[in-house]
Amino acid sequence: MDELRKDPTRGDWVLIRPKSKPGAQGDCPYCSGAEHLTGPEIAAYRAEGFPPNGQGWTVRVVPEGDAYFRVEWELVREGVGMFDMITPRGASELILESPRHDDTPATLAPEALEKVLWMYRDRLVDLKRDNQIRDILISRRHRKAGVPPHHPYSRVTAIPIVFDETRRELREAREYYQYKRRCVYCDMLRQEIGAEERVARLTPSFAALVPYAPRVPLETWILPRQHGCSYEESLTPETARDLARLLSEYFRTLAATFGDPGYEMVLHTAPNLRSRILQGDWATIRDDYHWHIHIAAQPERANRVGGIYVNEAPPEVTAAELRDSWWRPPR
Ligand SMILES: [Zn+2]
Ligand SMILES: [Zn+2]
Ligand SMILES: [Zn+2]
Repeated sequence: MDELRKDPTRGDWVLIRPKSKPGAQGDCPYCSGAEHLTGPEIAAYRAEGFPPNGQGWTVRVVPEGDAYFRVEWELVREGVGMFDMITPRGASELILESPRHDDTPATLAPEALEKVLWMYRDRLVDLKRDNQIRDILISRRHRKAGVPPHHPYSRVTAIPIVFDETRRELREAREYYQYKRRCVYCDMLRQEIGAEERVARLTPSFAALVPYAPRVPLETWILPRQHGCSYEESLTPETARDLARLLSEYFRTLAATFGDPGYEMVLHTAPNLRSRILQGDWATIRDDYHWHIHIAAQPERANRVGGIYVNEAPPEVTAAELRDSWWRPPR
């Protein structure tokens, strides 16, 4: 049986699961025309007149084959002597971003990417109705070393605890707010936009920054300029269009000028406030947390010494390179 176990000395959760048998290699189950090869679809955008689980879709959500987290499992929290265990009840879903196998975020039209962003919102809203789901991460990888190229998808992982990385961010944001009565991300935006040197791109609704202390050379953060703790409550037709265009241009820049590196993109948004357990949980989260996106190129090449990242590319230089080579649509 799969278990989430907590290391009481480091405070981290680890998923312990038996190794699964590799699935049969064959045709891609995520291409248009192969819909019968996936489990029943969870959601889809498709043209009028096309029934579910068939062709005609632009964005489609399916359960992940060998899921780490499953909604049909019972949620059990257990003390095992001095240790803590919880069953991995949640969801592992794939958001298929295009019916075409060879698309990437750099080849997708901004309008297609915008639909993917709306599907992110739809899945967050739907999964957060389940108050046993505590946190949801939407991530996407491009060209991971050692993994053969696959159909373009984003991964949705919904779990009964808060992800360690999110928990650290929530704690830092709350402590900053308790001390200063201001959102740390809003303060950072104001300062970075004023200073300009680490801003790669500014749009009406978003700033793409190389952070002050990036872990890897090409780390970029995308922050909404308007405060809001959750992505799904903040997305509007204007911001969705703006974000889709910004991401499209960013990924085209990486592909055209930076040698199309592999990267990981992660959406950080407020956890499921309905899953509040203690009265004081997330009491100031609406004011202290600010949703955002992290993109890190070649995260597997991160260099660390005793947990401290070593980055040999000063962020000011990286930001200038991104600004100077920023992809612009042909006139
Ligand atoms: Zn495919
Ligand atoms: Zn803020
Ligand atoms: Zn974050």
